[in-house]
Amino acid sequence: MKVLKFGGTSMGNANALEQVSSIVQKYSKSGEQMLVVCSAMSGITNQLISIGQLAEKGKQHEAMAIFNAIKEKHLASARQLEVIDSFKSCTNELFINLEKLVQGIILIGELSSRSVAYLLSFGERLSTRLLVCYLQRKGLSATQHDSTFIKTKGINYEEDEIDWESTKSLAINALGNNIQENVISVVTGFFGTNPQGHISLLGRGGSDFSGAILSVCLEINTLEIWTDVDGFLSADPRIVEDAQLLDEIGFQEASELCFFGAKVLHPKTIRPVIDNGGQVWIKNTFNVELEGTKIIKEARENKREVISISSKKVGLISLDLFASQSKKKQILSELFQLAQENGVDIDMIAASEAEISFCIEVKHLENKCFLDSLMSICPYYIKEDRSVVCIVSPKEVRGQCGVAGKIFNAIADSGVSIDMYSQNASEIAQLIVINTGDVKKVVKNIHSKLVSRNALLV
Ligand code: ADP
Ligand code: ASP
Ligand code: MG
Repeated sequence: MKVLKFGGTSMGNANALEQVSSIVQKYSKSGEQMLVVCSAMSGITNQLISIGQLAEKGKQHEAMAIFNAIKEKHLASARQLEVIDSFKSCTNELFINLEKLVQGIILIGELSSRSVAYLLSFGERLSTRLLVCYLQRKGLSATQHDSTFIKTKGINYEEDEIDWESTKSLAINALGNNIQENVISVVTGFFGTNPQGHISLLGRGGSDFSGAILSVCLEINTLEIWTDVDGFLSADPRIVEDAQLLDEIGFQEASELCFFGAKVLHPKTIRPVIDNGGQVWIKNTFNVELEGTKIIKEARENKREVISISSKKVGLISLDLFASQSKKKQILSELFQLAQENGVDIDMIAASEAEISFCIEVKHLENKCFLDSLMSICPYYIKEDRSVVCIVSPKEVRGQCGVAGKIFNAIADSGVSIDMYSQNASEIAQLIVINTGDVKKVVKNIHSKLVSRNALLV
């Protein structure tokens, strides 16, 4: 049995949905049992965010124009797939509720994070219903499920943590019968419900994680992430046109890359599945003949100098230790305490006698409480518009000389200065902070010098 997760582009229009259905049909014909997890149709989550922002400002006309566009996009696909009647009857109430929600936000002029979570859940509720109508029309036995049985801890509404124990028993209750009777469950990605029963989200791109949660809780060994690229590539293909397909990648290497911006997989996806003895594959919905990339627990021997490169925007903060009365070790301990209290993750840190520099997610630069309290610990400055470039090598790089040197040379050849640098002791990940405007140039250059030439470790 497999969990198949289809992302936004795989659900993007009627043609893509036909493709998804043909993959499901092919598996079904070969006797494979499946559970399907879907994202919203591509672009819908962003449109729902815009609706919320416009409604909060009282811009009724603009908010309703997007609401109508969302409705029309789904109805047009349903018409093309010839499921308009069944789709209308299973989504009538959803559209009424969505409209009521938008009017409610306009009325009170307030958009709480609880409302955002509820609002964004409509994308997945609609896409899964559309797919099920089509699978049923194709003669497949499939039922739609809202993932309210994924239980979260209620820490926040945008990216909540999972209550694994409760989720496990509720998921078995909700989907166990279908598994026994060989009916395909089509489940919404991206959200669950918190202890109060409110919708809470799993973070942007979180449907991958929903797939992982169901794979672990229902003990389904294989998770296939179906997307719009051939697999895990040696760089973001939007930056490096000739990025190479990786047949397999170790989970530690993949985790570093996903954490630092490789959008192809939500960073929380891999670990639970691999820890549970399962496998994660990345496959292309539009190129089904290819095997894709297998993410494995222990990568096989690999002599390449660099496997893959990713990048993500960060906030770079530097504490000026000389301007503070306190000692370095006291400041470090206060910094971590403050970060924890304010829900701020420190992604990268470098400390010397004069300064402590660290990177946080860009969204945390808006956390006024964290920044104000930080100033009371130690004066600091922020470097704006920074990104971290993450360069991952195989474990065989340990103890070898020269790879970091080549990376630095490639950056120097690009005429770019480095703000901050870090390498963990396992030596597999080099993290380099530079100006965001220089990322494309630097990634292309490192890729062409260390990946495209298939440079090998000696
Ligand atoms: P989905 O809608 O299927 O969830 P996403 O847009 O979230 O798809 O992720 C797939 C995209 O990730 C690709 O289209 C590609 O542009 C981007 N991407 C970034 N880094 C990588 C990488 N290293 N390998 C593959 N794709 C990557
Ligand atoms: N639809 C959600 C998003 O756009 C979740 C996902 O696609 O994984 O973030
Ligand atoms: Mg995604």
